[in-house]
Amino acid sequence: MNNALAIKENLRRRGMGGETVCVLCDHAMESSSHLFRDCIVAAHVWRSSSLGVSTTTNTHLQLRDWIKNFLNFLWKEDGRGSIRVLTFVAILWSIWLHRNSVIFRHSTRNPELILQMARQFGEQWMNAAPLRNKMKMSSKRHSIMQHDGDEEHVILKGVGHDHDAILVTDGAWKMHKKKKYPRAAAGWVLKKGSILIPKDGVRIEATNPSQAEVKAIYMWLSYASQQDVQGVRVYTDCVEAITSIRDFPHCIIELATLCSDIRRMADKFRHCSIYKCTRERVKEAHVLATHARQSG
Ligand SMILES: [Zn+2]
Repeated sequence: MNNALAIKENLRRRGMGGETVCVLCDHAMESSSHLFRDCIVAAHVWRSSSLGVSTTTNTHLQLRDWIKNFLNFLWKEDGRGSIRVLTFVAILWSIWLHRNSVIFRHSTRNPELILQMARQFGEQWMNAAPLRNKMKMSSKRHSIMQHDGDEEHVILKGVGHDHDAILVTDGAWKMHKKKKYPRAAAGWVLKKGSILIPKDGVRIEATNPSQAEVKAIYMWLSYASQQDVQGVRVYTDCVEAITSIRDFPHCIIELATLCSDIRRMADKFRHCSIYKCTRERVKEAHVLATHARQSG
């Protein structure tokens, strides 16, 4: 865990600079032990969680060993897939996501949000348990995506309706050849019946193509939620985007925060589903995204 996470202190040691003060408390250096255990915000989260962990003992342990000790204890007591094990991991993960959200999205630091997120992870995991068991029992590999005609999709909320708005999104991403930084943009077309609501393309920041695609979905879903849209079907040609949203929180880490935001956003609609479609289908959004990426 220590190595996997790009903790700012490690980055600094590798000369990758940036500020090094913990963003959750604005007080101490952000080492992994601090962020996940010793920080007053982390300590509050652990203490207030259903685990009721006191972080003031065993602070001499490195974070890695502290986590190992804890998991070993819980595994022995409750077995591997227990709620307490899951809660423990969910809290670590939620601290990390909240920290990123404060840094990259300028969210307000709030330990309650961390606890809330950890609970949500727990619930999502428990709700998915019957499905997971079913998948384990089946020897065939199969997708949990639903088929509607030949279009694979993931339903995030409610039941679809003929009057649902259609949101076609596309992300464009390209590494700038000379300056070696990526340029990305998100394009979209929103239709309700035959009425075209607006369409647009804007520049965004994204570190890779999939992130641009997922960001495009998030941004325009968020836009649609502010319009008079009750139900929405989102179309994307990006398989990674749709599988990440489907598998969240078990998706790749760079997409986790966005996928979590998309799922929260989907809750605002009466119905929200995401469809995998052909490149041809997203062409109009693609042109808008490409144009936005190249301009400015
Ligand atoms: Zn701190």
